[in-house]
Formats: sequence, C-alpha cells, structure tokens
Amino acid sequence: MRHDDNLTTDRQTFVTHLECSMTGERYEADQLHGLSRAGRPLLVRYDLEGVKAALTPDILARRPADLWRYRELLPVRRTENIVSLGETATPIIPLEKEPGNVWVKDEGRLPTGSFKARGLVMAIAMAKELGVATIAMPTNGNAGAAAAAYAARAGIEAVIFCPADTPEINVREIAAQGARVYRVNGLIDDCGKIVGQGKETRGWFDLSTLKEPYRIEGKKTMGLELAEQFGWELPDAIFYPTGGGTGLIGMWKAFDEMEALGWIGAKRPRMYAVQAEGCAPIVRAFEAGERHATRWEDAHTVAAGIRVPQAVGDFLILDAVRASGGKALAVSDAALVQAVDDAARKDGLLMCPEGGATLAAYRDALAGGLVDAEERVVLFNCATGLKYPLSDQSHYLDRHQPIDWAAL
Ligand SMILES: *Cc1c(COP(=O)(O)O)cnc(C)c1O
Repeated sequence: MRHDDNLTTDRQTFVTHLECSMTGERYEADQLHGLSRAGRPLLVRYDLEGVKAALTPDILARRPADLWRYRELLPVRRTENIVSLGETATPIIPLEKEPGNVWVKDEGRLPTGSFKARGLVMAIAMAKELGVATIAMPTNGNAGAAAAAYAARAGIEAVIFCPADTPEINVREIAAQGARVYRVNGLIDDCGKIVGQGKETRGWFDLSTLKEPYRIEGKKTMGLELAEQFGWELPDAIFYPTGGGTGLIGMWKAFDEMEALGWIGAKRPRMYAVQAEGCAPIVRAFEAGERHATRWEDAHTVAAGIRVPQAVGDFLILDAVRASGGKALAVSDAALVQAVDDAARKDGLLMCPEGGATLAAYRDALAGGLVDAEERVVLFNCATGLKYPLSDQSHYLDRHQPIDWAAL
C-alpha cells in the first residue's frame, strides 16, 4: 500500500499526550476521549524533536501530494487504521479579476466535496483505532456527509442529525453513504443536544466539532499545505468562514508546530474569522472584547456551513484571531451571494456560499484598509459550489421555429 512508503507501522508516530486547551491538564494518548474535564476541547501534543529528526521539508516534497504525507504530525498510530478516499492537496487559485493579490484555496476538490473530509478522515481513523462501533454527530450538512463516507469505509455505524432545512443534497448524500440521517426541527446546537443524550442512552461516540480531539488534527493540514504551497513563507492574511472554527484553530496549531520544527519563522498571517450577519456570535464577542461568545439567537443565513449559534472552541478562535492581529468580520447574505456570482462569472470559479462570504469580507477589508493590495491573501472556499442550489439563468430555444441568429 502506498501509505507505507517510508513509514513503518507503529514506528514513526510521535503523539505524546493530549492536553486541555483551557487548563493545560494532561490526558493519556491511545485512549478514547471527548472533551476535557473542564468541558473544553483537547489538543494533541507531539514529540516535535522526534518529528524534526524524522521529517524535513525535503522529505515531504518527495511524497504524494495528499493529507497523509504529514503522517508524522498526525495522530494515527497504525497504518492499517488509515481510511482514505484520496485526500488530495488542494490548489490555490488566484482570483485574477479581483483587485489586490488574492488566492482561493479550493477545498471543494476533497472527497465528499468539502474540507470536512480533512477533519473527519482523521476522526474516523482514530475512532477505528480506538475501537468505536457507532458514531453520532450533529451537522449542517458537509460534516455529516464526510462522516458518513469515512464511517462506511471503516465499517463504523453512523447516526447523523441535521437541521430540517439543511441543503437537500447534503441530507441525501449522508443517507446515500450508509448513515442513518434524521432531520430535526431546530439548529445545529439543538441537534448536538440529541447526540449528547444518545451518547448517554445508546453509548454512541460523539463526533461533534471539537468534542473529540482529532478533527482539529485533520484540519490543521490546511496550514501545513499552505506553508508548503507558499514556499514556507506564510501569506499575510487568511480569511476563514467560521462556524465551529475547527480549521482556524487547526491552522493556528499547525503554525506553532511548524515553527517548533524550524520550518517557518515567527511571522503569522492575520487571521480573519468571517461570519454571516445573521449568525455572528464570534464577531459580537470580538467587538465586545470578550473571550467567550454567547449563543446567537434566531440564527439565519444562506451559508448553512457557518450557521453555528454557539461554538465550544469560541475562546480558541478568538485567541488566535487576536494574537494574529486579525479581526472577526460579518458580511450580509446579499454580499456573499454577489461574491459567489462574481467569482463564477468573472474568474470561472464556482464557490460555495461560505467561500463567497470570505470574498465579500476580503472586499470590505481591502476597501476599509485592513488589507493592502500588495499583501498575499488567502480565502478559503470550503466546499464545491456544485453542492448548492444554482439559479436558472438559461434561455429556451425552440428548434422547430426559425432561429433569430442575431439575437443569440
Ligand atoms: C463546516 C463548514 C464551514 C465552517 O467550518 P468550521 O471549521 O467548522 O468553522 C464553512 N463552510 C463550509 C462549506 C462548511 O461545511
């Protein structure tokens, strides 16, 4: 198997322990964990000196361009527990028609069509390694789809709960990939409560965002990939559509690990957490100078992936944004829809609504002087635009009537 190239089972894995992200309390590796005793996310820690001796950018450059190339910085111990649907490195595509110097990291190329594949491939591989039989999770769509796909592959049962108005394609793809899926008359945190109860009554393993330690590890590969793609010189600013914030937290962790490895310096991109005006708990907390965010009531936005009223990792998002010198920004649904339309029409890149939100926020940031035109900026397009309803802009042509060629 290709994943065995230069990597021997059990030998070159470097996890030392897990750590509460709030209190620093230590937890043993190789055991099943949810949240810490303080009710906060656990972070995976590695023997980075060991990694440094085993892995260099030169070695990396010779490996296949996928997520598993970072194997030494990932938690899976045994190669046989790797589940994979081909987690390819995603391209960074310049938006040539936008002012400034802006790239889109197009995560829509990943299995199941979204960057949830990065987190869920790791969570499911670890669930397999640690003997989980059934996983359950709340989802706004893409996470459930990725969980279902990898669970099917790993032979793990999956039970998924989503808000009733989750995009139809997501609900159906979850079921198509072998999971039991329930539409719930509530929001994602309401679904999360049902999972929490099922954990107690049915013994399901809770795969909710940040409630198990390994989705962050999968998502951090976005940071590793970016560094490599930019020649080990990180971009100046990153715009990330923020729901649970896993990717933002993961990239921030990756930057610290890469600095410890000597692969990058101390310079960090400014991190911009982008939310929709109809659901902006992180923006509100950022502006109020709070470290934790309160629940956003009556959350609504067409960008389902960032309709997250409350995030368990709120303080990790806010800490990273502040430490980076970035900001939390809200955009209107009208602006994000316009951005999707413009990128597709002018640059040929069909983004998801959440990706459109980052472009809308970038435009505001450029106009408002938060970002300079010379700076290198990366936007995250987190899912393929093909998963979302598209408006019908076609015309009808009757082939039995004379065709007015001048009008075509
Ligand atoms: C999940 C999701 C997000 C938000 O990602 P987080 O890391 O949970 O903040 C953004 N866009 C899309 C399309 C998503 O599926």
